[in-house]
Amino acid sequence: MPRWGMVIDLDRCTACQACVVACQVENNVAPAGPEMAARGRAISWLRLVPFQGGEHGTRPELRLVPLPCMHCERPPCVRVCPVRATLTDREGLVAQVYPRCIGCRYCTTACPYTVRHFNWDRPQWPGPMEQALSPDVSVRPRGVVEKCSFCHHRLQRAKDQARAEGRPLREGDYVPACVETCPAEAMVFGDLDDPRSAVARLSESPRAFRLLEELGTRPKVIYLSRGEWGGEI
Ligand code: SF4
Repeated sequence: MPRWGMVIDLDRCTACQACVVACQVENNVAPAGPEMAARGRAISWLRLVPFQGGEHGTRPELRLVPLPCMHCERPPCVRVCPVRATLTDREGLVAQVYPRCIGCRYCTTACPYTVRHFNWDRPQWPGPMEQALSPDVSVRPRGVVEKCSFCHHRLQRAKDQARAEGRPLREGDYVPACVETCPAEAMVFGDLDDPRSAVARLSESPRAFRLLEELGTRPKVIYLSRGEWGGEI
């Protein structure tokens, strides 16, 4: 079984937000607008988060870091869900089963990366935006928690295509929308257990680190630090 993971090279990332928009469109994430955003309604499965870097005692540097679900190997969100609405599938992806979710939000509290969002209002797509909804992804109702799935529907499509062509899944057949869109090629996706894959090789880089790895969550999103930061974020 593959172990899907992502590497994000902060030396290449220009914080252009193309990945954020791609994720929003691909996954039917409802737009908020300024008024609802001010009320805390903004939902973004992938967002750019400011982190402070630089040497202690010197002028701090602010960096924007893309933050999707880490698809942790030991996910605290899965452990606390009382109805098994979130679970780890056979390929290590942390899935969210929307019809099961009762909106208790234990998972949002348990996730140290704050990548889970509670849908407290009825999602709306004004005017022609409704025509742009993807038929491959469900439209989540009010009252459930949602999060990044690594565009799981794309995996199913890639598997169907490979089966139709009578071949195994190849590297590059399945990539999430954010990875495909990034103009700087700062994001790399693939099987972390395949030593020939780019993602496995990059994950061994001396610049590689995981966010909050001291918590023991074992994230499968791996960052490559910026050189001038001396290997630290
Ligand atoms: Fe769960 Fe948060 Fe880890 Fe994603 S990042 S698997 S939501 S604990």
